[in-house]
Order: sequence, then structure tokens, then C-alpha cells
Amino acid sequence: MKNHKINQERLDLINNLKARKIIITENVYNAMLNVPRHLFLPELDINKAYIDSPQQIGKGQTISAPHMNAMMCEYLEIKPKDKILEIGTGSGYHAAILAELTGKGGIVYTIERIPDLAIKAQKKLEELSYSNVEVIIDDGTLGLESKAPFDKILVTAASPKIPKSLLVQLNPNGGILCIPVGKRHWDQDLIVIQRTKEKYIKKKVCKVIFVPLIGENGFDE
Ligand code: SAM
Repeated sequence: MKNHKINQERLDLINNLKARKIIITENVYNAMLNVPRHLFLPELDINKAYIDSPQQIGKGQTISAPHMNAMMCEYLEIKPKDKILEIGTGSGYHAAILAELTGKGGIVYTIERIPDLAIKAQKKLEELSYSNVEVIIDDGTLGLESKAPFDKILVTAASPKIPKSLLVQLNPNGGILCIPVGKRHWDQDLIVIQRTKEKYIKKKVCKVIFVPLIGENGFDE
């Protein structure tokens, strides 16, 4: 597909998300406009990159629908220089958006349990010069204690419960966690939790469908 056609399709999709009030802020709008989603998809599916739907990325996993990326980014209220943890790197696309949002002064740690996906994502992120993203192969349900606390934590797979390991790694000065919680393949809610010095403020945002979070504090394999 020709570059100008792809760029136009990306612009149309982002403008559509804005018109639907899923993209609200200018920083999320610009971040999503800057990241070439088609380069994170398998070559055969490039023509589906700017349809607002999830796509297969191999190993039984998916890249989320763009409206879900946008919604999660808006709930996370990412600011320049935020230290961000993402669990579920998948293709690396959402990590690239997070990297755009936090900027060169910030950092994104992203954990993926499937080595093939992590390696591919890391290569792509390097090719696109995202020097503020570190891809880690591990069980993300444990968080990343060595780099905590995090200003923002994003989980991109559905968990049976909110892992305590993630709650304690949130910055107590307003850190935000966004995580899908529910059954393995259905009845999942997107939960947003803000940590203050005194408490955790939790809100249920909407129904979602994600692949399962598999690990020590997630579902069994
Ligand atoms: N954020 C991704 C993107 O932009 O392409 C999409 C993520 S996909 C919906 C969910 C990912 O979570 C899968 O790649 C899956 O292998 C990964 N995953 C599941 N359990 C995990 C765990 N315990 N730790 C790290 N990654 C996990």
C-alpha cells in the first residue's frame, strides 16, 4: 500500500476516534497519529491496520483495537517524564504510544511472557527509534519491583483479580493502574485505580474483552 494512502487512513481513524470522544486530549491524538500501527502487524494484514478492530499477531495473541488503546491512554492521564510499566507487550504498538506520551524524559518498561513476541516487538521499537522503551521477557503479574514505583501501570490482558504486586508498585502520589479484570474469556471489566497517600480509589469503567493474563498472579496456563 502506498504511504500517502496509509497516512490518510491513519488520520481518518484517529479523527474518527476523536469525533466519537474516545480520544479527548491533544497529546493522545498526536501520539496515536505518530505511531505507524501498520508496521506492528504481520505483513499480510497491513491493509487492516486502520480498521478499528483487534488483529492477530501470532502465538494466539492480538493487538487491541485502536479505540481500546486510546481509551486506556486517556484513563492513564500520562504526563511527560512519567515512568510507565506495561504488562503484555504483544506487538509493541501500545508501548510505542506510551513512549510518545511520556517523551524522551520518561521511560516505558514493557513485559511480555512469550519470547518470540517480545523479541519481535523490541526489534520493531528499535527500528522506529523508541529509545525510551525497554522490553522484558518475564511474568508481568509480578510487576517489576526493581524499577518501582511507577507513575502509570497498564495491563493489556485480562486478570482474574487485581494483583497486589501491581498495587504496591504504584506511585503513592497519584499513580494510576488500568487493568481488565474478569473471567478468562468473557465478563471482563476495565478497572482504573488511583493510589493516593491514604487509599486506592477504584472505578469500573466499561465491559471489555481481552486475552487472559497468564502467570503467578493471573490465570493458569
Ligand atoms: N499491548 C499489546 C500490543 O500493543 O500489541 C497487545 C497485548 S495482547 C492483547 C496481550 C499480551 O499479554 C499478549 O501478548 C500475551 O502474551 C501477554 N501476556 C499474557 N500474560 C502475561 C504475563 N503474565 N506477563 C506478560 N505478558 C503477558
